[in-house]
Amino acid sequence: MSNIVVLECLCGAVKGKLNVDPGSFFHVHCLCCDCQSFASHLNSKEKILDEHGGSELFQTYPAFMEVSEGQDKIGCVQLRDKGLYRWHTTCCNMPLANTMNSSKVPFAGVSVKLMKFSNEQEKMKILGPVTMKAFGKYSIGEMPKDAHPKFPISYMPKIIGFMLKGLFRKMNNPSPFFNGKEPIAKVNVLS
Ligand SMILES: [Zn+2]
Ligand SMILES: [Zn+2]
Repeated sequence: MSNIVVLECLCGAVKGKLNVDPGSFFHVHCLCCDCQSFASHLNSKEKILDEHGGSELFQTYPAFMEVSEGQDKIGCVQLRDKGLYRWHTTCCNMPLANTMNSSKVPFAGVSVKLMKFSNEQEKMKILGPVTMKAFGKYSIGEMPKDAHPKFPISYMPKIIGFMLKGLFRKMNNPSPFFNGKEPIAKVNVLS
């Protein structure tokens, strides 16, 4: 059975919801330098990153995410040409999600910081534990013991399965970030 999780930015201007569908997501920590650079760009490192520099992400299909309020407060950056689209709020500089730079790919890495839970138990019940900590070599300080230095190859078949299922079920669309093929906000390329 799927669960609906309420999404809300820090200031409350951007609101939405997420359908958490068992078997259609990965709950991960990404410690990569790009996620850290994105947090620095937003001037929100302390709001976003854990003590190791990790970002908590919920990777799922765009069609499961809905933004119902504050669409005009969504911005987008690319750290470099051809990089991921990194969506954020412009009201309170919170990350929203990362997507590929094409509306065709059924992937959105939603920031767990947006999700509203009444307590840790409820969060654990709905999202389950973090199943992968990737790119630990970029950790701030000592790498967490349960992190992989890069990306665990053992994860690839799961990602491929997820992508194929998403393509087959056309889960790229509707997306809160694209109108058809066009991104809903101007994409600001940082370098
Ligand atoms: Zn906000
Ligand atoms: Zn990352």
